[in-house]
Amino acid sequence: MELMDTAADEAFLLELLNSTPIVDGVQRDELDTPQAGRSWLRALGHSGSTAEWHAVRAARSTMRAVVREQQPASSLDPLLHEVNYRPSVSDDGVQWRLDAPTDRAAVVQAVLAWDALRRTRPGRLRACENPDCALFLIDHSKPNKARWCSMAVCGNRMKARRHYERTRTNPHR
Ligand SMILES: [Zn+2]
Repeated sequence: MELMDTAADEAFLLELLNSTPIVDGVQRDELDTPQAGRSWLRALGHSGSTAEWHAVRAARSTMRAVVREQQPASSLDPLLHEVNYRPSVSDDGVQWRLDAPTDRAAVVQAVLAWDALRRTRPGRLRACENPDCALFLIDHSKPNKARWCSMAVCGNRMKARRHYERTRTNPHR
Protein backbone atom coordinates (compact mmCIF):
# COMPACT_ATOMS: atom_id res chain seq x y z
CA MET A 1 0.00 0.00 0.00
CA GLU A 2 1.24 3.48 -0.86
CA LEU A 3 2.39 5.85 1.83
CA MET A 4 0.10 8.56 3.15
CA ASP A 5 -2.01 10.74 0.93
CA THR A 6 -3.17 13.02 3.70
CA ALA A 7 -6.35 14.38 2.14
CA ALA A 8 -7.57 10.99 0.94
CA ASP A 9 -6.70 9.32 4.23
CA GLU A 10 -8.52 11.97 6.27
CA ALA A 11 -11.51 11.70 3.99
CA PHE A 12 -11.59 7.94 4.45
CA LEU A 13 -11.26 8.22 8.22
CA LEU A 14 -14.16 10.64 8.37
CA GLU A 15 -16.28 8.48 6.06
CA LEU A 16 -15.66 5.53 8.36
CA LEU A 17 -16.48 7.42 11.56
CA ASN A 18 -19.56 8.91 9.88
CA SER A 19 -20.94 5.72 8.38
CA THR A 20 -23.89 5.51 10.78
CA PRO A 21 -25.74 8.78 10.15
CA ILE A 22 -29.05 9.48 11.86
CA VAL A 23 -31.61 10.15 9.16
CA ASP A 24 -35.09 11.31 10.25
CA GLY A 25 -34.38 10.14 13.78
CA VAL A 26 -33.27 6.67 12.75
CA GLN A 27 -29.65 5.56 12.81
CA ARG A 28 -28.54 3.93 9.56
CA ASP A 29 -25.47 1.80 9.15
CA GLU A 30 -23.87 2.12 5.75
CA LEU A 31 -21.82 -1.00 6.58
CA ASP A 32 -24.87 -2.92 7.69
CA THR A 33 -24.63 -5.93 5.40
CA PRO A 34 -21.64 -7.50 3.63
CA GLN A 35 -23.04 -6.26 0.30
CA ALA A 36 -23.47 -2.69 1.52
CA GLY A 37 -20.09 -2.71 3.27
CA ARG A 38 -18.26 -4.12 0.29
CA SER A 39 -19.62 -1.56 -2.14
CA TRP A 40 -18.95 1.20 0.40
CA LEU A 41 -15.31 0.07 0.57
CA ARG A 42 -14.99 -0.18 -3.20
CA ALA A 43 -16.41 3.32 -3.67
CA LEU A 44 -13.61 4.55 -1.40
CA GLY A 45 -10.88 2.79 -3.36
CA HIS A 46 -10.51 -0.42 -1.34
CA SER A 47 -10.72 -4.00 -2.49
CA GLY A 48 -13.97 -4.57 -0.64
CA SER A 49 -13.58 -8.16 0.48
CA THR A 50 -15.87 -9.57 3.14
CA ALA A 51 -12.92 -9.86 5.53
CA GLU A 52 -12.11 -6.20 4.96
CA TRP A 53 -15.70 -5.28 5.70
CA HIS A 54 -15.53 -7.21 9.00
CA ALA A 55 -12.29 -5.48 9.89
CA VAL A 56 -13.47 -1.92 9.25
CA ARG A 57 -16.73 -2.53 11.06
CA ALA A 58 -14.92 -3.81 14.14
CA ALA A 59 -12.36 -1.02 14.02
CA ARG A 60 -15.01 1.67 13.64
CA SER A 61 -16.40 1.36 17.16
CA THR A 62 -12.94 1.36 18.75
CA MET A 63 -11.88 4.38 16.73
CA ARG A 64 -15.00 6.29 17.71
CA ALA A 65 -14.47 5.51 21.38
CA VAL A 66 -10.87 6.74 21.13
CA VAL A 67 -11.87 9.96 19.35
CA ARG A 68 -14.54 10.53 22.01
CA GLU A 69 -11.86 9.85 24.66
CA GLN A 70 -13.90 6.99 26.09
CA GLN A 71 -11.05 4.57 25.48
CA PRO A 72 -7.27 5.06 25.59
CA ALA A 73 -5.45 5.43 22.28
CA SER A 74 -3.64 2.18 23.01
CA SER A 75 -6.92 0.34 22.25
CA LEU A 76 -6.02 0.87 18.60
CA ASP A 77 -2.77 -1.06 18.93
CA PRO A 78 -4.18 -4.46 17.85
CA LEU A 79 -5.33 -2.87 14.60
CA LEU A 80 -1.70 -2.36 13.60
CA HIS A 81 -0.45 -5.86 14.30
CA GLU A 82 1.65 -7.24 11.45
CA VAL A 83 1.99 -3.83 9.85
CA ASN A 84 5.50 -2.88 8.72
CA TYR A 85 7.33 -0.29 6.72
CA ARG A 86 9.42 -1.96 4.08
CA PRO A 87 12.23 -0.14 2.30
CA SER A 88 13.33 -0.87 -1.22
CA VAL A 89 16.00 0.76 -3.35
CA SER A 90 15.53 1.83 -6.95
CA ASP A 91 17.53 4.21 -9.15
CA ASP A 92 15.65 7.03 -7.42
CA GLY A 93 16.86 5.97 -3.97
CA VAL A 94 15.09 4.40 -1.04
CA GLN A 95 11.32 4.07 -1.13
CA TRP A 96 9.23 3.06 1.84
CA ARG A 97 6.10 1.06 1.44
CA LEU A 98 3.58 0.17 4.06
CA ASP A 99 3.12 -3.54 4.36
CA ALA A 100 -0.27 -4.41 5.87
CA PRO A 101 -2.36 -7.58 5.74
CA THR A 102 -4.62 -7.12 2.70
CA ASP A 103 -7.84 -7.31 4.66
CA ARG A 104 -6.69 -4.63 7.06
CA ALA A 105 -5.36 -2.07 4.57
CA ALA A 106 -8.44 0.12 5.01
CA VAL A 107 -8.27 -0.06 8.81
CA VAL A 108 -4.57 0.80 8.78
CA GLN A 109 -5.28 3.77 6.54
CA ALA A 110 -7.86 5.07 9.03
CA VAL A 111 -5.60 4.57 12.06
CA LEU A 112 -2.65 6.31 10.39
CA ALA A 113 -4.89 9.20 9.34
CA TRP A 114 -6.14 9.52 12.92
CA ASP A 115 -2.56 9.58 14.18
CA ALA A 116 -1.38 12.11 11.57
CA LEU A 117 -4.27 14.41 12.53
CA ARG A 118 -3.52 14.07 16.19
CA ARG A 119 0.12 14.97 15.69
CA THR A 120 -0.20 17.72 13.11
CA ARG A 121 -3.54 19.24 14.09
CA PRO A 122 -4.39 18.14 17.64
CA GLY A 123 -7.99 18.54 18.75
CA ARG A 124 -9.30 19.01 15.20
CA LEU A 125 -11.11 15.70 14.95
CA ARG A 126 -14.10 15.52 17.26
CA ALA A 127 -17.71 14.50 17.60
CA CYS A 128 -20.52 16.85 16.58
CA GLU A 129 -21.98 18.54 19.67
CA ASN A 130 -25.54 17.80 18.68
CA PRO A 131 -26.47 14.89 20.98
CA ASP A 132 -28.90 13.60 18.34
CA CYS A 133 -26.18 13.45 15.71
CA ALA A 134 -23.74 10.57 15.33
CA LEU A 135 -21.28 12.36 13.06
CA PHE A 136 -17.73 13.58 13.54
CA LEU A 137 -15.97 16.57 12.04
CA ILE A 138 -12.46 17.68 11.19
CA ASP A 139 -12.21 21.39 11.88
CA HIS A 140 -10.05 23.05 9.21
CA SER A 141 -10.92 26.59 10.29
CA LYS A 142 -8.32 28.88 11.83
CA PRO A 143 -10.11 29.51 15.17
CA ASN A 144 -10.86 25.76 15.57
CA LYS A 145 -14.23 26.47 17.19
CA ALA A 146 -16.57 24.49 14.95
CA ARG A 147 -19.06 22.60 17.10
CA TRP A 148 -21.26 20.98 14.49
CA CYS A 149 -20.68 18.54 11.66
CA SER A 150 -22.67 20.96 9.55
CA MET A 151 -23.79 24.50 10.38
CA ALA A 152 -26.70 24.10 7.97
CA VAL A 153 -28.07 21.03 9.70
CA CYS A 154 -26.88 20.58 13.30
CA GLY A 155 -25.85 24.20 13.94
CA ASN A 156 -29.24 25.60 13.05
CA ARG A 157 -31.06 22.80 14.80
CA MET A 158 -29.17 23.35 18.05
CA LYS A 159 -29.62 27.13 17.86
CA ALA A 160 -33.35 26.70 17.35
CA ARG A 161 -33.51 24.30 20.29
CA ARG A 162 -31.62 26.66 22.60
CA HIS A 163 -33.87 29.53 21.54
CA TYR A 164 -36.93 27.39 22.26
CA GLU A 165 -35.60 26.42 25.69
CA ARG A 166 -34.76 30.04 26.53
CA THR A 167 -38.17 31.31 25.58
CA ARG A 168 -39.86 28.48 27.41
CA THR A 169 -37.97 29.01 30.70
CA ASN A 170 -38.37 32.80 30.45
CA PRO A 171 -41.91 33.22 29.13
CA HIS A 172 -42.09 36.94 29.99
CA ARG A 173 -39.04 37.99 28.03
ZN1 LIG B 1 -24.04 16.93 13.57
